[in-house]
Amino acid sequence: MENLYCLRCNRELEAGQKSVAVYMFAQTVGIRPRQKSTAQRICFCPQCSVSLAMGPPPEGALNIAAWKMIRDLVGSDPALNQAAWETLRGIVGLLPGSEDYNAQAGAYLEF
Ligand SMILES: [Zn+2]
Repeated sequence: MENLYCLRCNRELEAGQKSVAVYMFAQTVGIRPRQKSTAQRICFCPQCSVSLAMGPPPEGALNIAAWKMIRDLVGSDPALNQAAWETLRGIVGLLPGSEDYNAQAGAYLEF
């Protein structure tokens, strides 16, 4: 089983952990033989997904396409937001009253 990392914050996403996966592959059109690239899986943790969706559109056509898809998910159901909150609460629970954590969280949410 390959290890997956959030593309944005580089946090390791363990198997079964809540995340958003963006799948991407390329395929030739109108050219024979038809060719298809291998599929790439790009992952985002729930907080980064929500943070990205709430933020302004990124630069680059592919980034905008992915941003729109993530916005779609975040906007259509509160489950993903809830997963982000759950993870945040988990981190707070591990480091009670840590000022370092607050500083990190501030930097983390800046995008
Ligand atoms: Zn992340």
